[in-house]
Amino acid sequence: MSEKIMDGKVIAAEMREELKKRLAPLKEKGVMPGLGVVLVGDDPASRSYVTAKERACQDVGIHSQEIRLDAPAPLEEILDAVRGYNRDPDIHGILVQLPLPDARMEAEVIAAIDPDKDVDGFHPVNIGRMILGLPAFLPCTPHGVLQMLKRAGQSPNGRHVVIIGRSNIVGRPLANLLTLKNELGNATVTLCHTGTGDLAHHTRQADIIVAAAGRPHTVTADMVRDGAVVVDVGVNRVDDASRPRGYRLVGDVDFDGVFDKVSAITPVPGGVGPMTITMLLYNTVEAAERKQQQG
Ligand code: NAD
Repeated sequence: MSEKIMDGKVIAAEMREELKKRLAPLKEKGVMPGLGVVLVGDDPASRSYVTAKERACQDVGIHSQEIRLDAPAPLEEILDAVRGYNRDPDIHGILVQLPLPDARMEAEVIAAIDPDKDVDGFHPVNIGRMILGLPAFLPCTPHGVLQMLKRAGQSPNGRHVVIIGRSNIVGRPLANLLTLKNELGNATVTLCHTGTGDLAHHTRQADIIVAAAGRPHTVTADMVRDGAVVVDVGVNRVDDASRPRGYRLVGDVDFDGVFDKVSAITPVPGGVGPMTITMLLYNTVEAAERKQQQG
Protein backbone atom coordinates (compact mmCIF):
# COMPACT_ATOMS: atom_id res chain seq x y z
CA MET A 1 0.00 0.00 0.00
CA SER A 2 1.27 3.49 -0.85
CA GLU A 3 3.00 5.38 1.97
CA LYS A 4 0.58 8.22 1.32
CA ILE A 5 -2.35 6.18 2.51
CA MET A 6 -3.45 6.60 6.10
CA ASP A 7 -4.71 3.07 6.68
CA GLY A 8 -7.58 3.11 9.17
CA LYS A 9 -7.57 -0.67 9.49
CA VAL A 10 -3.92 -0.73 10.60
CA ILE A 11 -4.24 2.19 13.03
CA ALA A 12 -7.51 0.79 14.43
CA ALA A 13 -5.87 -2.62 14.95
CA GLU A 14 -3.03 -0.93 16.84
CA MET A 15 -5.52 0.86 19.09
CA ARG A 16 -7.51 -2.33 19.67
CA GLU A 17 -4.34 -4.06 20.89
CA GLU A 18 -3.85 -1.20 23.36
CA LEU A 19 -7.44 -1.65 24.55
CA LYS A 20 -6.95 -5.37 25.09
CA LYS A 21 -4.06 -4.52 27.45
CA ARG A 22 -6.32 -2.16 29.40
CA LEU A 23 -8.87 -4.95 29.82
CA ALA A 24 -6.49 -7.22 31.74
CA PRO A 25 -6.41 -5.21 35.03
CA LEU A 26 -10.18 -4.79 34.85
CA LYS A 27 -10.72 -8.49 34.42
CA GLU A 28 -8.45 -9.19 37.40
CA LYS A 29 -10.95 -7.22 39.46
CA GLY A 30 -13.84 -9.16 37.96
CA VAL A 31 -14.98 -6.33 35.67
CA MET A 32 -15.91 -7.09 32.07
CA PRO A 33 -16.77 -3.93 30.10
CA GLY A 34 -20.30 -4.20 28.69
CA LEU A 35 -22.00 -2.40 25.81
CA GLY A 36 -25.79 -2.28 25.63
CA VAL A 37 -27.16 -1.69 22.14
CA VAL A 38 -30.65 -0.53 21.20
CA LEU A 39 -31.66 -1.09 17.58
CA VAL A 40 -35.07 0.05 16.40
CA GLY A 41 -36.43 -1.28 13.10
CA ASP A 42 -34.74 -3.28 10.37
CA ASP A 43 -32.87 -0.71 8.28
CA PRO A 44 -30.13 -2.78 6.57
CA ALA A 45 -27.42 -0.12 6.98
CA SER A 46 -28.16 0.26 10.71
CA ARG A 47 -28.24 -3.53 11.12
CA SER A 48 -24.85 -3.86 9.45
CA TYR A 49 -23.31 -1.05 11.55
CA VAL A 50 -24.58 -2.71 14.74
CA THR A 51 -23.25 -6.10 13.65
CA ALA A 52 -19.84 -4.57 12.91
CA LYS A 53 -19.77 -2.89 16.33
CA GLU A 54 -20.80 -6.09 18.15
CA ARG A 55 -18.15 -8.10 16.27
CA ALA A 56 -15.52 -5.53 17.19
CA CYS A 57 -16.55 -5.83 20.86
CA GLN A 58 -16.16 -9.58 20.68
CA ASP A 59 -12.76 -9.24 19.03
CA VAL A 60 -11.43 -7.02 21.84
CA GLY A 61 -13.15 -8.87 24.72
CA ILE A 62 -16.01 -6.50 25.52
CA HIS A 63 -19.39 -8.01 26.38
CA SER A 64 -22.21 -6.70 24.18
CA GLN A 65 -25.95 -7.27 24.28
CA GLU A 66 -28.73 -5.99 22.10
CA ILE A 67 -32.37 -4.96 22.50
CA ARG A 68 -34.16 -5.05 19.14
CA LEU A 69 -37.45 -3.23 18.88
CA ASP A 70 -39.78 -3.43 15.91
CA ALA A 71 -40.54 -0.16 14.13
CA PRO A 72 -42.48 1.95 14.74
CA ALA A 73 -41.62 1.57 18.42
CA PRO A 74 -43.37 3.92 20.84
CA LEU A 75 -41.07 6.44 22.51
CA GLU A 76 -41.77 4.91 25.96
CA GLU A 77 -40.57 1.51 24.78
CA ILE A 78 -37.26 2.95 23.57
CA LEU A 79 -36.87 4.96 26.77
CA ASP A 80 -37.55 1.82 28.84
CA ALA A 81 -34.75 0.01 27.03
CA VAL A 82 -32.36 2.88 27.73
CA ARG A 83 -33.41 3.15 31.40
CA GLY A 84 -32.92 -0.60 31.83
CA TYR A 85 -29.33 -0.27 30.61
CA ASN A 86 -28.84 2.81 32.83
CA ARG A 87 -29.68 0.65 35.87
CA ASP A 88 -27.72 -2.44 34.78
CA PRO A 89 -24.34 -2.62 36.61
CA ASP A 90 -22.94 -4.95 33.93
CA ILE A 91 -23.54 -2.36 31.20
CA HIS A 92 -20.95 0.43 31.10
CA GLY A 93 -21.79 1.94 27.71
CA ILE A 94 -25.08 2.47 25.85
CA LEU A 95 -25.43 2.76 22.09
CA VAL A 96 -28.75 3.71 20.53
CA GLN A 97 -28.21 3.16 16.82
CA LEU A 98 -29.21 6.27 14.87
CA PRO A 99 -31.11 7.30 12.87
CA LEU A 100 -34.26 6.18 14.71
CA PRO A 101 -37.19 5.46 12.38
CA ASP A 102 -38.82 8.57 13.90
CA ALA A 103 -36.01 11.13 14.02
CA ARG A 104 -38.12 13.45 16.21
CA MET A 105 -37.56 11.04 19.13
CA GLU A 106 -33.78 11.21 18.96
CA ALA A 107 -33.15 14.20 21.23
CA GLU A 108 -35.31 12.79 24.04
CA VAL A 109 -33.81 9.30 23.74
CA ILE A 110 -30.24 10.63 23.82
CA ALA A 111 -31.07 12.82 26.82
CA ALA A 112 -32.34 9.71 28.67
CA ILE A 113 -28.94 7.99 28.49
CA ASP A 114 -26.90 8.25 31.70
CA PRO A 115 -24.08 10.65 30.68
CA ASP A 116 -21.61 8.30 32.42
CA LYS A 117 -22.67 5.55 29.97
CA ASP A 118 -22.95 7.78 26.89
CA VAL A 119 -20.22 6.10 24.84
CA ASP A 120 -21.41 7.71 21.59
CA GLY A 121 -20.69 11.11 23.15
CA PHE A 122 -23.98 12.61 21.95
CA HIS A 123 -25.53 13.56 25.32
CA PRO A 124 -25.69 17.34 25.84
CA VAL A 125 -23.66 16.96 29.06
CA ASN A 126 -20.80 15.30 27.20
CA ILE A 127 -20.98 17.77 24.31
CA GLY A 128 -20.81 20.66 26.77
CA ARG A 129 -17.88 19.10 28.59
CA MET A 130 -16.12 18.43 25.28
CA ILE A 131 -16.46 22.07 24.19
CA LEU A 132 -15.10 23.24 27.54
CA GLY A 133 -12.15 20.85 27.25
CA LEU A 134 -13.25 18.90 30.35
CA PRO A 135 -13.00 15.09 30.55
CA ALA A 136 -15.84 13.69 28.40
CA PHE A 137 -16.76 10.82 26.16
CA LEU A 138 -15.79 12.20 22.76
CA PRO A 139 -18.00 11.47 19.73
CA CYS A 140 -16.49 8.50 17.93
CA THR A 141 -16.02 9.74 14.36
CA PRO A 142 -14.34 13.09 15.19
CA HIS A 143 -12.19 11.42 17.85
CA GLY A 144 -11.28 8.68 15.37
CA VAL A 145 -10.20 11.28 12.81
CA LEU A 146 -7.98 13.00 15.38
CA GLN A 147 -6.40 9.75 16.57
CA MET A 148 -5.74 8.77 12.98
CA LEU A 149 -4.03 12.08 12.16
CA LYS A 150 -1.89 11.89 15.28
CA ARG A 151 -0.86 8.29 14.75
CA ALA A 152 -0.17 8.83 11.04
CA GLY A 153 2.26 11.62 11.97
CA GLN A 154 -0.06 14.36 10.68
CA SER A 155 -0.72 16.35 13.83
CA PRO A 156 -3.10 19.28 13.22
CA ASN A 157 -1.09 21.37 15.71
CA GLY A 158 -0.52 24.82 14.16
CA ARG A 159 -2.06 23.83 10.83
CA HIS A 160 -5.10 25.11 8.99
CA VAL A 161 -7.87 22.50 8.86
CA VAL A 162 -10.83 23.01 6.54
CA ILE A 163 -13.84 20.84 7.40
CA ILE A 164 -16.71 20.32 4.95
CA GLY A 165 -19.95 19.53 6.79
CA ARG A 166 -21.57 20.88 9.95
CA SER A 167 -23.47 17.88 11.34
CA ASN A 168 -23.74 17.35 15.09
CA ILE A 169 -21.99 13.99 14.82
CA VAL A 170 -19.02 14.88 12.60
CA GLY A 171 -18.28 18.42 11.43
CA ARG A 172 -19.20 20.57 14.41
CA PRO A 173 -17.71 18.41 17.18
CA LEU A 174 -14.57 17.94 15.07
CA ALA A 175 -14.23 21.72 14.62
CA ASN A 176 -14.57 22.20 18.37
CA LEU A 177 -12.06 19.51 19.25
CA LEU A 178 -9.52 20.89 16.80
CA THR A 179 -9.63 24.31 18.44
CA LEU A 180 -8.76 22.94 21.90
CA LYS A 181 -5.20 23.53 23.06
CA ASN A 182 -4.13 19.93 23.52
CA GLU A 183 -2.18 17.20 21.75
CA LEU A 184 -5.03 16.35 19.35
CA GLY A 185 -5.98 19.91 18.45
CA ASN A 186 -4.39 23.37 18.52
CA ALA A 187 -5.33 23.92 14.87
CA THR A 188 -6.82 26.87 12.99
CA VAL A 189 -10.23 25.77 11.74
CA THR A 190 -12.54 26.75 8.90
CA LEU A 191 -15.94 25.03 8.92
CA CYS A 192 -17.65 24.94 5.50
CA HIS A 193 -21.24 23.90 4.81
CA THR A 194 -24.02 24.34 2.27
CA GLY A 195 -24.10 28.06 3.07
CA THR A 196 -20.45 28.48 2.08
CA GLY A 197 -20.19 30.58 -1.07
CA ASP A 198 -16.97 29.39 -2.67
CA LEU A 199 -15.96 26.05 -1.17
CA ALA A 200 -12.86 25.65 -3.36
CA HIS A 201 -11.52 29.04 -2.22
CA HIS A 202 -11.36 27.66 1.33
CA THR A 203 -10.19 24.12 0.61
CA ARG A 204 -7.29 25.43 -1.53
CA GLN A 205 -5.89 27.14 1.56
CA ALA A 206 -6.07 24.05 3.75
CA ASP A 207 -3.15 22.13 5.15
CA ILE A 208 -5.66 19.44 6.08
CA ILE A 209 -9.09 18.90 4.47
CA VAL A 210 -11.74 16.81 6.23
CA ALA A 211 -14.65 15.97 3.93
CA ALA A 212 -17.89 15.01 5.70
CA ALA A 213 -20.56 16.15 3.27
CA GLY A 214 -22.13 12.81 2.29
CA ARG A 215 -21.78 13.53 -1.43
CA PRO A 216 -19.37 11.87 -3.89
CA HIS A 217 -16.88 14.15 -5.70
CA THR A 218 -17.35 17.01 -3.23
CA VAL A 219 -13.55 17.40 -3.27
CA THR A 220 -11.80 17.32 -6.65
CA ALA A 221 -8.17 17.88 -7.66
CA ASP A 222 -8.61 21.59 -8.45
CA MET A 223 -9.76 22.16 -4.83
CA VAL A 224 -6.64 20.73 -3.19
CA ARG A 225 -3.26 22.43 -2.90
CA ASP A 226 -0.05 20.46 -3.44
CA GLY A 227 1.02 18.57 -0.33
CA ALA A 228 -2.31 18.81 1.50
CA VAL A 229 -3.56 16.02 3.78
CA VAL A 230 -7.05 14.72 3.00
CA VAL A 231 -9.34 12.83 5.39
CA ASP A 232 -12.45 11.42 3.72
CA VAL A 233 -15.26 10.73 6.20
CA GLY A 234 -17.95 10.26 3.54
CA VAL A 235 -19.56 6.90 2.89
CA ASN A 236 -21.78 6.94 -0.18
CA ARG A 237 -23.37 4.11 -2.15
CA VAL A 238 -23.00 4.39 -5.92
CA ASP A 239 -24.56 1.96 -8.38
CA ASP A 240 -22.11 -0.61 -9.70
CA ALA A 241 -23.53 -3.52 -11.69
CA SER A 242 -20.17 -5.34 -11.50
CA ARG A 243 -20.52 -5.76 -7.70
CA PRO A 244 -22.58 -8.61 -6.20
CA ARG A 245 -24.70 -6.15 -4.23
CA GLY A 246 -25.15 -3.83 -7.21
CA TYR A 247 -23.35 -0.94 -5.51
CA ARG A 248 -19.98 0.07 -4.11
CA LEU A 249 -18.97 2.49 -1.37
CA VAL A 250 -17.14 5.71 -2.21
CA GLY A 251 -16.15 8.72 -0.14
CA ASP A 252 -16.70 12.43 -0.70
CA VAL A 253 -13.29 12.87 -2.32
CA ASP A 254 -12.28 12.07 -5.89
CA PHE A 255 -9.53 9.78 -4.57
CA ASP A 256 -7.83 9.00 -7.90
CA GLY A 257 -8.02 12.63 -9.03
CA VAL A 258 -6.40 14.12 -5.92
CA PHE A 259 -3.94 11.30 -5.19
CA ASP A 260 -0.89 12.79 -6.95
CA LYS A 261 -1.31 16.16 -5.22
CA VAL A 262 -1.78 15.07 -1.63
CA SER A 263 0.88 14.11 0.90
CA ALA A 264 -1.50 11.80 2.76
CA ILE A 265 -5.04 10.55 2.28
CA THR A 266 -7.54 8.10 3.80
CA PRO A 267 -9.20 5.44 1.62
CA VAL A 268 -12.94 4.63 1.59
CA PRO A 269 -13.64 2.01 2.79
CA GLY A 270 -10.82 1.27 5.26
CA GLY A 271 -10.11 4.81 6.45
CA VAL A 272 -12.25 6.60 9.01
CA GLY A 273 -14.83 3.78 9.36
CA PRO A 274 -12.65 1.34 11.37
CA MET A 275 -11.50 4.26 13.54
CA THR A 276 -15.09 5.22 14.41
CA ILE A 277 -15.87 1.72 15.66
CA THR A 278 -12.62 1.56 17.60
CA MET A 279 -13.40 4.80 19.42
CA LEU A 280 -16.70 3.27 20.58
CA LEU A 281 -14.72 0.41 22.11
CA TYR A 282 -12.30 2.95 23.59
CA ASN A 283 -15.14 4.85 25.27
CA THR A 284 -16.68 1.63 26.59
CA VAL A 285 -13.40 0.54 28.18
CA GLU A 286 -12.97 4.03 29.62
CA ALA A 287 -16.50 3.94 31.05
CA ALA A 288 -15.75 0.61 32.76
CA GLU A 289 -12.45 1.95 34.13
CA ARG A 290 -14.16 5.05 35.53
CA LYS A 291 -16.86 2.93 37.16
CA GLN A 292 -14.28 0.63 38.66
CA GLN A 293 -12.28 3.58 40.05
CA GLN A 294 -15.41 5.03 41.62
CA GLY A 295 -15.91 1.64 43.36
P1 NAD B 1 -25.12 15.12 7.29
O1 NAD B 1 -25.92 14.90 6.05
O2 NAD B 1 -25.79 15.20 8.61
O3 NAD B 1 -24.27 16.44 7.12
C1 NAD B 1 -23.61 16.74 5.91
C2 NAD B 1 -23.09 18.16 5.99
O4 NAD B 1 -22.39 18.45 4.80
C3 NAD B 1 -24.18 19.20 6.13
O5 NAD B 1 -23.83 19.98 7.26
C4 NAD B 1 -24.09 20.06 4.88
O6 NAD B 1 -24.16 21.44 5.19
C5 NAD B 1 -22.71 19.74 4.35
N1 NAD B 1 -22.64 19.70 2.89
C6 NAD B 1 -23.27 18.84 2.04
N2 NAD B 1 -22.95 19.12 0.76
C7 NAD B 1 -22.10 20.17 0.80
C8 NAD B 1 -21.43 20.94 -0.19
N3 NAD B 1 -21.55 20.64 -1.47
N4 NAD B 1 -20.64 21.95 0.21
C9 NAD B 1 -20.49 22.25 1.52
N5 NAD B 1 -21.10 21.56 2.50
C10 NAD B 1 -21.89 20.54 2.14
O7 NAD B 1 -24.03 13.97 7.29
P2 NAD B 1 -23.10 13.33 8.43
O8 NAD B 1 -23.92 12.49 9.31
O9 NAD B 1 -22.21 14.38 9.02
O10 NAD B 1 -22.22 12.38 7.52
C11 NAD B 1 -21.43 12.89 6.47
C12 NAD B 1 -20.86 11.73 5.68
O11 NAD B 1 -20.00 11.00 6.52
C13 NAD B 1 -21.90 10.73 5.18
O12 NAD B 1 -21.46 10.21 3.94
C14 NAD B 1 -21.88 9.66 6.23
O13 NAD B 1 -22.28 8.39 5.73
C15 NAD B 1 -20.43 9.65 6.59
N6 NAD B 1 -20.12 9.17 7.93
C16 NAD B 1 -19.12 8.28 8.04
C17 NAD B 1 -18.75 7.82 9.26
C18 NAD B 1 -17.62 6.85 9.36
O14 NAD B 1 -17.40 6.29 10.40
N7 NAD B 1 -16.86 6.65 8.29
C19 NAD B 1 -19.40 8.26 10.42
C20 NAD B 1 -20.41 9.21 10.28
C21 NAD B 1 -20.76 9.68 9.03
